[in-house]
Amino acid sequence: MEAREIQLAARPHGWPTADTFRLVQVERPEPGPGQVLVRNVFMSVDPYMRGRMNDVKSYTPPFRLDHALSGAAIGEVVEANGTPLAAGQLVLHDLGWRDFAVLDAARAMVIDPGAAPTVSSYLGALGIPGLTAYVGLLDIASFAPGDAVFVSGAAGAVGRLVGQIAKAKGASRVIGSAGSAAKVAHLRELGFDAAFNYKDAPVAAQLRDAAPDGIDVYFDNVGTDHLEAALFSLNPRGRVALCGAIAVYNATEPPPGPRNLGLAVGKRLTLRGYIVSDHFDRMPALRDEMARWLRDGTVQNHETVVDGLENAPDAFLGLLRGENIGKMVVRL
Ligand code: NDP
Repeated sequence: MEAREIQLAARPHGWPTADTFRLVQVERPEPGPGQVLVRNVFMSVDPYMRGRMNDVKSYTPPFRLDHALSGAAIGEVVEANGTPLAAGQLVLHDLGWRDFAVLDAARAMVIDPGAAPTVSSYLGALGIPGLTAYVGLLDIASFAPGDAVFVSGAAGAVGRLVGQIAKAKGASRVIGSAGSAAKVAHLRELGFDAAFNYKDAPVAAQLRDAAPDGIDVYFDNVGTDHLEAALFSLNPRGRVALCGAIAVYNATEPPPGPRNLGLAVGKRLTLRGYIVSDHFDRMPALRDEMARWLRDGTVQNHETVVDGLENAPDAFLGLLRGENIGKMVVRL
């Protein structure tokens, strides 16, 4: 029995290309004791995967050259193999980038499709991007009702949830930046008070116009010019959740700025980085609140779906180029 997987064929220098990936036919894996065989139905592509393509020490180990990539996926149990799982159950696990996976039953989390607008929202609003938005805004940036919030990468998986959670929790103003007119229109439809295309004019000037009274929280998905602009607009005792810096993930030179970090002293700012996997204890709170928000329409789910394992590299490259609105997922 055959199966397919996508391997890392070459470590990219700068932007990855089609040659970074290799689609390979392999033998379908057989589950051993305590293991299950799953057929993946959705897999996630995420910006952090770019970092794992570099052979450098980081908070997650690098992907191995000539081995399958990995990442969050949803699969249907094909062989439960005497474990507590049952054939037909849907499980969340971390062996994406392949159509069949064998994994320890303990590493497979059974999901409830009835509790979500789409099965794949366990890769988005009810999964890691949801938790990243929830923890980053509420815990890391210590959001309080009445805060004015600016989020970059605002039309992406994490960003659009940050804006909607801030609204649900009583923000005085929510501002988002994104890279196209269509994304800006999407943010306005979602209820953002202001949104701008960062490619139209310098971010600092656009943010000043969008937030004449300043901001109290900046949720940073981008780094560089966005962080610099936020430092100008932050009010005294403002807080920054340093979530990501996608503007520099493919950089081959040291990134520019922010050049105005000194403002953090006089304004008594707090800038705090975090990694979502340190905060899994907050997953039940996210699932509880987010499932309710999705049901009552407070948060609107949105995904960009690419079909076919063979198109997963394109989905990943498209994510880096900004071709997604909401969570980018691949349907297998
Ligand atoms: P997104 O769905 O937001 O996809 C990435 C988006 O980044 C693209 O759609 C694109 O949108 C934008 N982008 C790409 N290049 C640039 C650039 N040069 N300047 C500004 N925007 C750019 O991905 P996620 O929601 O999954 O991730 C968002 C951020 O959160 C990333 O930085 C990621 O690394 C980080 N993250 C951090 C975690 C943590 O534990 N700290 C966990 C999960 C994610 P556009 O068209 O607007 O340019």
